[in-house]
Amino acid sequence: MLVAGCSSSGADSTSEDRVSVVATTNVVGDLVRQVGGDAVALTTLMGPGIDPHQYNASEGDVQRMAGADMVVYNGLHLEGKMVDLFPEMDRRGISTTALAEASVPDSLRIGSTEYASAYDPHVWFDVSLWRRAALHLGDALADLDPDHATAYRERAADYAARLDSLDTYAREQIATIPETQRVLVTSHDAFRYLGAAYDIEVRGLQGISTDSEAGTADVQALAGFIAERQIPTIFAETSVSERGLQAVQEAVRSRGFEVQLGNALYGDALGDAGTPTGTYIGAVRHNIDTIVEGLTDSDSAAPTTARR
Ligand code: ZN
Repeated sequence: MLVAGCSSSGADSTSEDRVSVVATTNVVGDLVRQVGGDAVALTTLMGPGIDPHQYNASEGDVQRMAGADMVVYNGLHLEGKMVDLFPEMDRRGISTTALAEASVPDSLRIGSTEYASAYDPHVWFDVSLWRRAALHLGDALADLDPDHATAYRERAADYAARLDSLDTYAREQIATIPETQRVLVTSHDAFRYLGAAYDIEVRGLQGISTDSEAGTADVQALAGFIAERQIPTIFAETSVSERGLQAVQEAVRSRGFEVQLGNALYGDALGDAGTPTGTYIGAVRHNIDTIVEGLTDSDSAAPTTARR
């Protein structure tokens, strides 16, 4: 797989003094952009709407990683079908950084409900944990590219300060939801860190991975929970099919209760680059605002299905 590719004439001279970094998800890629700035030539493998649990690296992806100075990924098995590639890159002498594994100690991780001795990988929904990831990445880039070490660490510190504000915003906004209505139901169990950090109960139709489809029993159990708790809105995710939650909505209806399908949340993928939700901060704000709106206006005559 190393034969074909980028030899010969067309070498890009402008990128020569920049370090090349390949990021897996666009959540990870956004952090590299924030901390690396212009000193980094960034390639992000997974775009908007891509489910990292199911993502298989293409031949081209492997070549891009093999040609990079550093590969940055989330880890904790988020990129479940790529796990063998990262040690392979290590063996080839490419620097690799697993943000969640490296920056979030065991004591702050949430255990997996499905896989014994594994952890929930979705650490970025606790903004204070993503702040750790930012500072860690600043150090990792400084080690990789000592000429720009000060700039990386400064950018990481500046970004960490912005995350502090975001953390406060999330905490204050979620707290405005009446406590009995503070229940977040989503397509898959991606939001347990958000739940733990900001005091909101969370339920996913699918587990912490999207590997297994939800069965009829899962749909009925969740529908019963929603009807019993009179939850006004449930939330799809941009990187997971909405069909499962539509089945839940139907099952809730057959129990004589109406639940809205709210605007989709950014779960494992951010929005389009160049739009507000194409950044982590923008996507988290969107999620928080969407959750607050969906769980506080149960009396209004909102349509049954809101558009994304
Ligand atoms: Zn996920």
